[in-house]
Amino acid sequence: MIQFMSDKVKKTACVKLKIKDNPEFVKYIASVFDLMQKISSAVHSEILNISNIGGFKLTWKNKEYKDAEEFRELPFIKPVLDDFFKDHDNIGFSALRAIYWSVVRMYRSYVGRNKKNMPLPIRVNTNAVAFKDATFKIKEDGSQIIMSTMFDKKIKIKLEVDDKKSFIKNLKYIDFNDKGFKQNAGGIINMRTNHLVLTTDDAYFECQDVDSFIGVDINMNLENFLTWSDGDIISRPKEIQDLLDKLKIYNKLLGKENRALITGNSRTKINKAKNRMHKRYLPKAMRKWLYPILDKKLKKGIALALDTVTTGATNGSFGQEHFIACCKRYCEENGIFVYEIPTPYTSQMCNECNFIAKANRNGDKFKCIECGHEDHSDVNAAKNIKAYADYLYSINFESHIGGNSKYHKSKSAKIKAHFRDPLNIPPLLLRVKS
Ligand SMILES: [Zn+2]
Repeated sequence: MIQFMSDKVKKTACVKLKIKDNPEFVKYIASVFDLMQKISSAVHSEILNISNIGGFKLTWKNKEYKDAEEFRELPFIKPVLDDFFKDHDNIGFSALRAIYWSVVRMYRSYVGRNKKNMPLPIRVNTNAVAFKDATFKIKEDGSQIIMSTMFDKKIKIKLEVDDKKSFIKNLKYIDFNDKGFKQNAGGIINMRTNHLVLTTDDAYFECQDVDSFIGVDINMNLENFLTWSDGDIISRPKEIQDLLDKLKIYNKLLGKENRALITGNSRTKINKAKNRMHKRYLPKAMRKWLYPILDKKLKKGIALALDTVTTGATNGSFGQEHFIACCKRYCEENGIFVYEIPTPYTSQMCNECNFIAKANRNGDKFKCIECGHEDHSDVNAAKNIKAYADYLYSINFESHIGGNSKYHKSKSAKIKAHFRDPLNIPPLLLRVKS
């Protein structure tokens, strides 16, 4: 098939890297936390004089500061900096600004939640630090990070990357300069796990050429959780079923009938456990199980056509949302084209003659009342999903990955709107029963 699509879509990418122990780095980070704590105390002493806290800005009641580096001139910050940098005359102000702003953000979020009544300065969390500015440069092969410091513009810390497996695949979607380095927007360092998560807006998603699609139908049933257009039927694995069962219990505890019984702290705890399940345990278990399956299904040139299901979507009771998210992540990491197919009639339509009737389907058995074609119902549906994808690809619809989530939604809406227009009914839908 001809590649119609624009092959590069702008997106925000994250690269998570495990960094090797580095004494220079550990020493530097300790001084960063030290300075942050000092800035925090200085800001706190003036908290009553704050009139407004913006994203990256504290506005002071009694004085106007014009430039973006106003903090250097603030009468209560200046002595802190003068004292802290007394042995340095070549200060790296972009790194310093990032440190100042990370304190400002802490105050903004505190004041937003608690008004301005603050007995003590905010204590700086020494587990993680976020550098929003262009602090890091990353090497194209992901082997090295160069970090600028606040102490000297010219001196950089070199960090070796330890774990080459972690998220390294995303690197191929980031534009590097001719020296093989990318200046990143910023990053978060987790001191406990030695991870550095870098983000960049200057990334793109690139798809491999598409020869054909494989379709997958998602089902609530445990036995035929995933049905593929190649005829393969895969049940939901026990490890994911166990997690979903736990989730069901959390949902029940949080449900209407327990509203009066479970309150306050207990409710908060259950909610936290539920969120952890959704954000951490289920995605992780899904990846572990699904990635090897996708490795086999999505050989070179094969793109993915995903079912979109709405049943149980609000509480995720059969794992479909984790399946879809996991598939999209895999495709993004591997440059595989993917569609989410809105599925009008996929379960009622005969894949052989395209005749649509409710009577075509009886449970797992599909028998077309028009042409007599027989198949497993879900296999027939998966084949229809594949057919939709082939059609969408032939009329040049963009993939469902790349770009931000708002964009994803607009793509689904566009596809749905496309099918609502009678002029756009694809050839495979022409024989709707009147
Ligand atoms: Zn038929």
